[in-house]
Amino acid sequence: MSPSRRPGFPARLGGLKAGAGSALTAPMPTRAPQAPTPVPQGLGLDSAAVRQRMTQRLAQAGIARADVLQAMGTVPRHRFVDTALVTQAYEETSLPIGWGQTISKPAVVARMIELLLGAPCVQSGGQLARVLEIGTGCGYQAAVLSLLVREVYTIERLRAMHERARERLRPLRLANVHLILGDGTLGYAAGAPYAGIIAAAGGQQLPGAWCEQLAVGGRLVAPIVGADGAQALQVVDRTAQGYAHSVLEAVHFVPLKSGIA
Ligand code: SAH
Repeated sequence: MSPSRRPGFPARLGGLKAGAGSALTAPMPTRAPQAPTPVPQGLGLDSAAVRQRMTQRLAQAGIARADVLQAMGTVPRHRFVDTALVTQAYEETSLPIGWGQTISKPAVVARMIELLLGAPCVQSGGQLARVLEIGTGCGYQAAVLSLLVREVYTIERLRAMHERARERLRPLRLANVHLILGDGTLGYAAGAPYAGIIAAAGGQQLPGAWCEQLAVGGRLVAPIVGADGAQALQVVDRTAQGYAHSVLEAVHFVPLKSGIA
């Protein structure tokens, strides 16, 4: 993909009012003096430097796309977790985000987004237009996606979580993120078809609605429980000929549930 084809990434960064007071560059909250010091340098002074180290780790771990690394290096992950967990926000760990749910570790977020951007329609030189995320959680992954695709529809079944994500995302002013309260096992027909569908909760099987709402040329990336009872990442590409399915590495996501709560 040529730089000019990237989905407006540098332009968006400019548009996000980088500099003093910018939501994307604001300093980390100051740590309490007695707090442990898991990250010895930078944290509390310069979150951009801490993120930079995180993206270096991601690159070493095999994330190859420069646009994904840049997006991961831009979104202030510490702003999506509780204050008590801020010092761990950039570590390679999943973290609790309330209501028994978790935010995935950075490598899993980056890996799944990189897979998503490998959709057939992108391989032929395009960019992902509309993406549906199942499981908004705290809104972090939606924020990363918003820098890489044109429109992000993200659906969450827990009302309180949905409201919290709205609060967390508001200061970032990401006009292309659409938050929906609903049962994501049904997809979100109003925004379909999607060039990409990405699930952050693991189901027992792949909901039929997701495959139906996937555009031709689109890709779905989701943790699904296999015949052996273990969750693995599954990728489904929709082409003019039909659906091509692959099963990748083992993962551990919170369960996909139905209904709204
Ligand atoms: N991507 C998120 C992580 C989400 S954790 C982030 O960046 O924070 C998984 C989320 O999926 C939880 O908030 C859970 O409530 C939600 N979830 C589970 N089943 C769902 C469903 N059927 N529809 C929508 N959201 C669902």
